[in-house]
Amino acid sequence: MAISTINPATGKLHKSFEPLKPTEIATKLDLAQQAFAKHRKTSFAQRAELIRGCAEILEKNQEAFASIMTLEMGKTYKSALAEVKKCAWVCNFYAEHAPEFLADVHVETDGSQSFVSYQPLGVILAVMPWNFPFWQVFRFAAPALMAGNVALLKHASNVPQCALAIEEVFQKAGFPEGVFQTLLIGASQVADIIADDRVKAATLTGSEPAGASLAAAAGKQIKKVVLELGGSDPFIVLESADIEAAVSTGITARMLNNGQSCIAAKRFIVAESIADKFEKLLLEKFQALKVGDPMEADTDIGPLATPGILDELDKQVQACRDAGAKVLIGGKPLSEGSGGSKGSGNFYPPTIVKDIPLDNPIAQEEFFGPVALLFRVPDIDAAIELANATPFGLGASAWTADPEEQKRLIKEVEAGAVFINGLVKSDPRLPFGGIKRSGYGRELSIQGIHEFVNVKTVWVK
Ligand code: NAP
Repeated sequence: MAISTINPATGKLHKSFEPLKPTEIATKLDLAQQAFAKHRKTSFAQRAELIRGCAEILEKNQEAFASIMTLEMGKTYKSALAEVKKCAWVCNFYAEHAPEFLADVHVETDGSQSFVSYQPLGVILAVMPWNFPFWQVFRFAAPALMAGNVALLKHASNVPQCALAIEEVFQKAGFPEGVFQTLLIGASQVADIIADDRVKAATLTGSEPAGASLAAAAGKQIKKVVLELGGSDPFIVLESADIEAAVSTGITARMLNNGQSCIAAKRFIVAESIADKFEKLLLEKFQALKVGDPMEADTDIGPLATPGILDELDKQVQACRDAGAKVLIGGKPLSEGSGGSKGSGNFYPPTIVKDIPLDNPIAQEEFFGPVALLFRVPDIDAAIELANATPFGLGASAWTADPEEQKRLIKEVEAGAVFINGLVKSDPRLPFGGIKRSGYGRELSIQGIHEFVNVKTVWVK
């Protein structure tokens, strides 16, 4: 994939970049290693001051950063602004909490003292996706740098200007050269970097094939990897639920980021007794959503990030039809935004598909766009069984007023997170990650900062 900025709302090419040559990559790896030697010796207070500086720069320049995101990957400008603010939050969060998260833990043994000490690993490679082009990077980098590591970013090839802008944030905040570097490289150049002795571990957020490929390359070198991959999150609504609240949260949960979020609600699993009402309300709200120019304040859904994603989604909806499912609304790409956007962007309308045969493999796939799959179930047993009938296990949202049902859902739904009567969301205070084919390892919270440290046992006589 070429490294370039193509506006998804118009299809217009804005800028292209040459991938780094092997000699340029080697120079950056050297720089990272040298930077680590110094950065690991800095105090938490010094690191915190720098990372707080990043937060300030993000806050001050939020409009500029949000515009780059919208230009490169099509998210609505208002959601891009919120993303920049969340990045500032995660920086301040780790500036404040890293010292307590990484404090020595004393343990009584037969030694005169024994304790667990958390020490940085070194140069960490982060392979990141385009869908939250700032948030994904900062939620990795803030804890990694606070722990004393240094970072190399290989960002998705369609968001190079985001990648460069992020590097500049770290530079302007005063981090020494080499502590955070962007590598403009293609996916095929990643395996050589992970094989390099100077790189100690890696994290990847993205698709299953990319995760498997990075994990295989890292496995050959016995290097640790954190994987944040796809999801086909269930959104379960049972009889006692507040249906209006469930529908309006469900819309947000499905349409977030133009439908391109790993933790979007992708499969709506609704109790038969309330399914007609739920479907009617959902349909009404879908009809009211405005597709169009992502820069406009009243746009709900902008374009999909690339033509490839649009084609893939179109094929999946077609596969649903072929399997005998019904499309209630939408279901075909729009040649141009229906909300006033001109040109031939990657626009896809809000779509509801129901009656997908459960034995068809399409029912288990991740739909990365504004398409809701609607299923009816007789009871909670069937709801949990269907929720778990997917290779993924990232998030789950479940709606019921019954405390016993809530307990069962919390225990029995196979996912890295279960939110009861609420939207699945990432939050610096809570761990984030998946099970099954959604990956392994955790980001955010204390668990996130512990991923890239040496948990060193110390025993002194
Ligand atoms: P993708 O194609 O896997 O790309 C993600 C990153 O991996 C990009 O930087 C890409 O580089 C790189 N990459 C692709 N193939 C690679 C390979 N063989 N070796 C090394 N690197 C490789 O994913 P996407 O389609 O952009 O992103 C959407 C997916 O990410 C969805 O499945 C979504 O659910 C998942 N996601 C998960 C989370 C989470 O936290 N669990 C968060 C956001 C997104 P190029 O751009 O150069 O190809």
